[in-house]
Amino acid sequence: MKPSLSIAKVALDLPDIGQSDGFDYLIPEDLLGKIAPGHWVVVPWIRVTKVGLVVALDSESQIAVSRLRTIQLQIADAPAPDTQWFKLLSFASRYYHRSLGEVALPALPKLLRVPARSAKTNQAPPESIFSKSRRRFTGTARALALPKANKSIGSKGDIATQFVAPQLTASQEQVVARLPLSGPFGVHLLHGVTGSGKTEVYLRWIAAHLAQDVHAQALLLVPEINLTPQLLLRVQQRFAGVPVSVLHSDLPDARRAADWLAAAEARARIVIGTRLAILAPIPNLRVIVIDEEHDPSYKQQEGVRYSARDLAISRAQIGDFPILLASATPSLETWSAAQRGRYALLNLDERATGAKLPVVRLVNSRKAELRHCLTEPAIEAIRAATARGQQSLVFINRRGYSPVLNCEACGWISQCDNCSAHRVLHRLTNPASLAFGPDGSPTKRAQFRLICHHCSAEQPVPRACPSCGNVDLKPLGRGTQRLEEGLAELFPGARVARLDRDVARRRNAAQAVLDAAQAGEVDILVGTQMLAKGHDFERLAVVVVVDPDNGLYAADFRAPERLFATLMQVAGRAGRSLQIQAQAEVIIQTRFPEHPLFDALMRHDFKGFAATQLSEREQAGLPPFVHQVLLRAEASELAHAVAWLNEAKRVGTELAAAEFGAEQSANTTPVVALFDPVPMAMLRVANVERAQLLLESRSRKALHLFLDRWLPLIKLAKPATSSLRWQLEVDPIEI
Ligand code: ADP
Ligand code: ZN
Ligand code: ZN
Repeated sequence: MKPSLSIAKVALDLPDIGQSDGFDYLIPEDLLGKIAPGHWVVVPWIRVTKVGLVVALDSESQIAVSRLRTIQLQIADAPAPDTQWFKLLSFASRYYHRSLGEVALPALPKLLRVPARSAKTNQAPPESIFSKSRRRFTGTARALALPKANKSIGSKGDIATQFVAPQLTASQEQVVARLPLSGPFGVHLLHGVTGSGKTEVYLRWIAAHLAQDVHAQALLLVPEINLTPQLLLRVQQRFAGVPVSVLHSDLPDARRAADWLAAAEARARIVIGTRLAILAPIPNLRVIVIDEEHDPSYKQQEGVRYSARDLAISRAQIGDFPILLASATPSLETWSAAQRGRYALLNLDERATGAKLPVVRLVNSRKAELRHCLTEPAIEAIRAATARGQQSLVFINRRGYSPVLNCEACGWISQCDNCSAHRVLHRLTNPASLAFGPDGSPTKRAQFRLICHHCSAEQPVPRACPSCGNVDLKPLGRGTQRLEEGLAELFPGARVARLDRDVARRRNAAQAVLDAAQAGEVDILVGTQMLAKGHDFERLAVVVVVDPDNGLYAADFRAPERLFATLMQVAGRAGRSLQIQAQAEVIIQTRFPEHPLFDALMRHDFKGFAATQLSEREQAGLPPFVHQVLLRAEASELAHAVAWLNEAKRVGTELAAAEFGAEQSANTTPVVALFDPVPMAMLRVANVERAQLLLESRSRKALHLFLDRWLPLIKLAKPATSSLRWQLEVDPIEI
């Protein structure tokens, strides 16, 4: 007789203890034989209960049966298990070296992972949160917050050709023809200049998949969902009547649960979402598209630091279906894979409307006289565009009013008490008038606050210099808010609108700015990255970039890649329509016009830029030619963090020598290189000091094998202080 499977391994939102992929629980008598991997259960944990996922069944446990606790409840109406989803979760758990529960549970909608309170005994059972969420799913216009005017659009008919799909251009046609409508797994990179009609291509491709298989689901990942209203609108119009799930972290809890469940139960045919959508079960998934695949937003920066793009590729591999990555500026990782033929490369070299790419002009801001930090050519270009009834966009990569507040008398600056960073001056109200007088002193101090962008600490603007008592404190430098004021002064009568993260914090505020810009109710847009992403403003002719120089000489080796992508994206907003292209102009104000990055940018030459960067990276032994892992530690004092990392390094060095032998100690590159711990560039954040240890290897396999053995050892390394926290990051994108 087979021993009965009376133990369930349950994944919980808790760090791994030991090596297990789940915590052992006894299956109660009445559930024996009814519980299977993939089922949702409620289990006791210390003094609370938690929702968990059954990962496996077993007949015995390492732990004495008397000490095991028992599953309380099986959530009977949770979604049916999805094997491919589980495979992805286990892959992610292995690859990022975190427990399965840490990967899976935080990705579940909050409403669905809170155990329901037990109902009062004599009442009929209340409707479960699952059936409530099922009922709530609309999957249609409301889900996409469609503007009213467009609600009537949409017609019945063949799903693939529904609505006003434009006639594809010849190049789009060729690309679509080369995209497969079934497996096997393969990665396709669509490299298309800004405005080349990439969106059109992948909408066609998705439509064809859905038309061919009535059960198929498609996943479309975007970097920031709130900022791509046009895309949502297009999807909604094109796929009228097709249930769509929208998944991102800004949704109200009930909506998130409803849309997630619809994806998990294959009721939604299209799932549009940000990075977290990749961790949703989508059982009939047959096709994935990743828009703007290079965007750093695809990288999760807390908890399990996964790359949604990389996981999406794994998901496609598990499901054995094709995946498309699209960008005008692919990440160098992706680009090099395409160059080596590992990914299939598809090109769109011209704009779909036939418009030319805009002229890019450099203005040396070192030599120029600046008014509100704008050079004369920039002011002139904006003035001319406004006079023609066209729009301008001023891009600056700093939010707030001014990066620091400064005392000229003694040199005091607004340093954060908790972080090695400055507190940024923020204006709280809208500018009715210049809040700082002509001499730069604040006329209404109370309208401002000093805010740290790292720990969020806030304080009022001091009445006088805390160090010398001087009452004349001045803002130093400019952020979006101050630039907005300056523009209003330079162009009286022009309608100026700002978009940055501060604006976007208010629900629907970003949308309102974008709608206004779309409707031609804005003459000058000022803002950060947010404005660069994917927008298609028909009347936008002039783009001015203010001071991109930080990215040119930054310590992070990825800084130039990022800067190039950002500039190309923001430049790509100019002159997208045929009517306006002739007047389109991009002006970049820089102190380093001779920098080669600008050369490539002026020629719109991504390929040239990428080739140079890749050869530099190859020579320097940097990704994508090596694989990296960071071990980070933080403590109240840097010395403790460094000491702990040194111990981890010592253990690791021994381990690597034992594991890889002569190969490791050869004076060429070792199999796994362990560098010395170093303080992080931003040493202190929120009163903890941080250091990191970098690991590198040319072999991903060797690196992960090493991590598998190393992690259990470093878990044993006793820190000198209880304040020590550490975490591992695989494939970090910021070093
Ligand atoms: P990308 O995603 O490559 O930046 P989009 O897909 O947003 O480009 O297309 C840019 C513009 O070109 C949009 O206004 C779109 O409506 C238009 N467009 C795309 N394909 C065509 C086409 N085949 N014919 C006419 N206009 C097109
Ligand atoms: Zn002072
Ligand atoms: Zn701070």
